[in-house]
Amino acid sequence: MRFATKAIHVGDQPLEKVKPVITPIFQTSNYSLSDEVYKAFTQGKEREVWIYTRHNNPTRRAAEEKIAALEGGEDALVVASGMAALASVLLTYLRPGDHMVTSQHLYGGSLNLIKKLKENFSIKVSFASPNHPEGIIDASTSQTRLFFFESLSNPLLKPFFVEGVKDFARRRGIKIVVDNTFLSPYNFNPLNHGADIVIHSATKYLGGHSDLLAGAVVGSQEDVHRIWETYVALGPVADPLACFLLDRSLKTLHLRMERHNSNALQAAEFLEEHPGVEWVIYPFLPSYRHREYAKENFRGGGGMVTFKVKGGDEAGLRFMRRLKIVKEAASLGGVESLVSMPFNTSHYALSPEERAELGIEEGAVRLSVGVEDIEDILSDVDQALG
Ligand code: PLP
Repeated sequence: MRFATKAIHVGDQPLEKVKPVITPIFQTSNYSLSDEVYKAFTQGKEREVWIYTRHNNPTRRAAEEKIAALEGGEDALVVASGMAALASVLLTYLRPGDHMVTSQHLYGGSLNLIKKLKENFSIKVSFASPNHPEGIIDASTSQTRLFFFESLSNPLLKPFFVEGVKDFARRRGIKIVVDNTFLSPYNFNPLNHGADIVIHSATKYLGGHSDLLAGAVVGSQEDVHRIWETYVALGPVADPLACFLLDRSLKTLHLRMERHNSNALQAAEFLEEHPGVEWVIYPFLPSYRHREYAKENFRGGGGMVTFKVKGGDEAGLRFMRRLKIVKEAASLGGVESLVSMPFNTSHYALSPEERAELGIEEGAVRLSVGVEDIEDILSDVDQALG
């Protein structure tokens, strides 16, 4: 071998002899082929062998198997972002002329995608309240193929009563798709309550450290395989490094969620007593409209608290700018506490009247409570509300 050939080919390790205790980063775009791989390929079993990282990757597979197990699904798929997860699901089950029932109480990016499907692909869309099963059923037509709701909505924390629509959906062959990002699989498993498919922005609690973007889809083997086929055609691949970070983070999800749950409850109780605050929404507060449902169904209320600062959006902005530990940022679900306002982030595209109609009043603030010492977070919030 000459210089260049040596540089490229010397040193490849026979992996069958390496036994790491964790799944390492398989930072490779492809794998050596063999007769076994070709055979699997022609039999439609591409996901059972290693061909090409868009199709499958061992680091990604580790995260997928963990997420499937934690959500109680048969299989899972990890993709590049929460939006890629939702797009892959909607494009698998909806054809032009089909109808879906969803809610205005969704992450703004999800509403944007649904709007595009409506305009560009003639998908028909009706909106219903996530906690009125009769309204969802009434909004359905003979063309309805899919229900899509968040298990706890962004930012007003409205629950989706999946059990109220599951029998109807089964009878009609309607797929129930639930975005479980806010609650995480630690607090709630929609598949155990009648959902067919769960999606996540794994960028949030599953990743948990604000250092990766990823999305996940969980469901039966058949559903995940169909969605995988759409995903392979579209190509929104999660990088092996992001998959490694995700797999690593999932190992502490239970520890982080315990702390998110208890810190957020304490923050919600503190805010409710604060003279600078008009109202607070948090699932385990006595004032929460669906507290009984939350207590019965959720292991914890999650890390998100939404509240209204007295004095409107200007006062809300002043509050955020005075915080010293809590950072003003758009995302959520990380170990650090973050704060943002829907009016200039997730719901900026709506007019003040449209926001008010949804219940997003002026001064509404969304606090993603991290896993710090809660005393420090509360005194920071207190001085900033001061
Ligand atoms: N679903 C919810 C509830 C979200 O809050 C977000 C992002 O904020 C998404 C989906 C989209 O996820 P991603 O940003 O990973 O594409």
